[in-house]
Amino acid sequence: MNYDYLIVGAGFFGATVAERLASRGKKVLIIDRRPHLAGNAYSYTDQETGIEIHQYGSHIFHTESDEVWAYITKFTAFNNYVHTVPTRHNGKLYPMPINLDTINLLYGKDFTPEEAEQFIAQEIKKDTAKYHIEDPQNFEEKGISLIGERLYQAFIKNYTEKQWGTSAKNLSAEILKRIPVRFNHDDRYFASAKHQGIPKNGYTKIIEKMLTSPNIEIKLGTSYKDLAQDFKSLKTIYTGPVDELLDYELGVLPYRSLHFESKWSETEDLGHAVINEADANIPYTRTHDYKYYQIHQPEVLNSKKSYLCQEFPDDYIPGKEAYYPINNPDSAALYQKYLELLKQRYPHIILGGRLGAYQYWDMDIAIKNALGLTKTL
Ligand code: FAD
Repeated sequence: MNYDYLIVGAGFFGATVAERLASRGKKVLIIDRRPHLAGNAYSYTDQETGIEIHQYGSHIFHTESDEVWAYITKFTAFNNYVHTVPTRHNGKLYPMPINLDTINLLYGKDFTPEEAEQFIAQEIKKDTAKYHIEDPQNFEEKGISLIGERLYQAFIKNYTEKQWGTSAKNLSAEILKRIPVRFNHDDRYFASAKHQGIPKNGYTKIIEKMLTSPNIEIKLGTSYKDLAQDFKSLKTIYTGPVDELLDYELGVLPYRSLHFESKWSETEDLGHAVINEADANIPYTRTHDYKYYQIHQPEVLNSKKSYLCQEFPDDYIPGKEAYYPINNPDSAALYQKYLELLKQRYPHIILGGRLGAYQYWDMDIAIKNALGLTKTL
């Protein structure tokens, strides 16, 4: 095939661009260095139990965008799963985000919504006075100033410190804009999502269906560096990290990584798709029990076995999976320098996807931005 475009990365971003271009008659080669499609959303079905395992951690599709929903539902049906995430603190489960039940359980009260709101306002006043917080100087001060010390210590501090691998006092107040507190019983995690669910046949099947056009050729297990010489001037959409593309010439863009420890169990069952672990003595942040996403398949939901997966935050060095960008003024400045260098050196390359953009994006944002990009090509 004589290609019009090379797309590096077969996650949601790359696949959406490939599908849209192919629909306009463009010839596309899409590659991924992993042995599978779907990027971080990759999932596969365990043959014995029918459980759909999300290899890179739980993925729940949710969006406020009708455009994205109309697009994605051309390739899959979704079940009616609505995400909730209890958080474990001192051995007890609490609804998260913080709601009226969380507050009543933690304080051993039976507040009405109005009483709880007044009570939390008093807590904030008392604790900001105790720590002399007028203009919060770091994440910890900001957390206390938003919800009071007790809620912050119980549910935010340790989880955040595990996730970012540093004291909350070392984190900027800027990264904590707000902590949602609901003075009602709503425990939906994505309360503002107009559409949400789990794809009935898993994520990888979506991407496979997106890439069925005869105008698309797929090469897996293939890194950009393997092909770069052959396609020096072909228009390229690159959804990998820009620092790696430019051989870390200006330094490494900082990320947090993760690792997962999984096991099959017939005796342990989480009873939820995900539980957050808020305490410091538990080194992982979340446990997943994927069968609880498959509410459309009672035989899977009632399976005797559970696939339990613990998620551990990890330091990042090049070569490990880059999961969460550490966005701060220094990393933003470094990223800008890389963009300038890329423009000079490889003007045929357009960056895209969450890695190329050096941003945390949910799947719907990756799709939305990919749809936006293809309109300009
Ligand atoms: P990716 O999926 O990362 O795809 C990029 C692909 O490019 C990768 O497969 C990579 O192998 C390939 N690649 C990179 N460099 C090269 C190279 N040089 N050569 C060849 N191939 C290359 N989103 C949600 O909407 N809901 C969720 O519940 C959710 N949960 C998440 C949980 C975790 C733990 C994480 C980390 C993310 C989660 N996300 C979730 C976000 C979701 O994973 C991303 O939005 C989505 O993966 C973005 O797609 P992408 O195509 O931009 O990137």
